[in-house]
Amino acid sequence: MSDPRDDQIRAAEQESDLLIRLIKDQSGPRAEIQRLPWGEVTDAWREGLATRLQAGTLGLCPHVMTPNVVIYAAWLPGLLLCPTCHTVTNIQAGIGEVEDSTCDGCGDYCPGEITNLTIQLGTVVIMGGLCPQCRDLEQRTAEAARG
Ligand SMILES: [Zn+2]
Ligand SMILES: [Zn+2]
Repeated sequence: MSDPRDDQIRAAEQESDLLIRLIKDQSGPRAEIQRLPWGEVTDAWREGLATRLQAGTLGLCPHVMTPNVVIYAAWLPGLLLCPTCHTVTNIQAGIGEVEDSTCDGCGDYCPGEITNLTIQLGTVVIMGGLCPQCRDLEQRTAEAARG
């Protein structure tokens, strides 16, 4: 028996794939799409998401209920949002130049040096920016995990 939700989940996964490509197109040359396995920095983001989910402390927008693409941004760690609410929340929170230039790994302020990472985990799109040092650490630890 196939669960009708499987089709919905597959459709949402395809949608998140498309969304990631759009994000990359719009974010310019400093955007990268991370492939699994996780490195040390992105694994900490994933852990943060999992811990908050289990503790029930994650803020969800009302559109997260159905199989749908949702965004978890490392600079908004308490929230899991649909793409529209993500955009609105960023604007309302005044996310701008300072956050765009702040590393989501170590918190350093590095104008012009941040690489934006986008990772797809099923229907969840995880996003964050890394300074050159954290990018190196991420790459080295992901390669080590790959064996
Ligand atoms: Zn929403
Ligand atoms: Zn950093």
